[in-house]
Amino acid sequence: MIRIGVHGASGRMGRSVVDLVRNQYAEHAEIAATVDRKSGGIDALAAVDAIIDFSLPAGTMTMVDWFEDQSGELPIYICGTTGLTDEQHTRLAGIGESTIVFHATNFSVGVAALSALLRFATPTLTALGYTPTIAEVHHVHKLDAPSGTAKTLSEVISPDDPDAIDITSIREGEVIGKHSVTFSGLADRIVIGHEASDRNLFARGAIEAALWLCQQEESCGNYTMEAYFQKRFLN
Ligand code: NAD
Repeated sequence: MIRIGVHGASGRMGRSVVDLVRNQYAEHAEIAATVDRKSGGIDALAAVDAIIDFSLPAGTMTMVDWFEDQSGELPIYICGTTGLTDEQHTRLAGIGESTIVFHATNFSVGVAALSALLRFATPTLTALGYTPTIAEVHHVHKLDAPSGTAKTLSEVISPDDPDAIDITSIREGEVIGKHSVTFSGLADRIVIGHEASDRNLFARGAIEAALWLCQQEESCGNYTMEAYFQKRFLN
């Protein structure tokens, strides 16, 4: 039985993780600790096997501070928080020296598959003269723009200069998350995209990653979605 701790547990994603573990993963996992900004009790996370964090950048930095203060065997850290600065990313990655850290801007396997398609298609399409742009739509409560997923897709399409990719961000109603990449030619367009219809998609991806990583032999290091997708689904 894998003991899971949830950070950001009162938020939309945190609640989704807690509900899914209790209702669909009860044979394999249990919620051993829930922590949010006002709840306190962060030290309860020391007794879990994996921490799933869907909070906000300040919350994730609280987790990083906490990890830096710990010693001995540490929980695996699965982090889905987006909107981190470069400096915050660097600090988060530093925790990978002490435990396994898996930070992903999007935990859906569908978006990982979309990235794999784009890695394959982009060189050919740009050589043919198509220009890629990205559009994303999310609910009005989302704080960061462009979305972390859109930024990750721009890195996939244009690894040497992701900022060169034009990103349009729309905030509308309760949209869970839509991303599309349009390759525009002189007289045609090729559109490749992904649309999430339930945020359980991301929660499930993070839970599945936690269960899988708990079975791996490594005790530290940084996982990317690309590496995880390759190792778990393409090998
Ligand atoms: P939310 O606002 O509903 O929830 C955030 C939670 O974090 C809240 O309960 C809040 O109290 C808590 N929090 C904020 N600051 C904190 C702190 N300093 N310490 C402890 N807890 C703190 O947001 P959400 O929709 O659940 O999204 C959470 C994060 O996950 C966002 O960054 C969002 O962009 C990201 N997200 C990632 C994925 C993915 O697949 N990686 C998918 C969806 C959302």
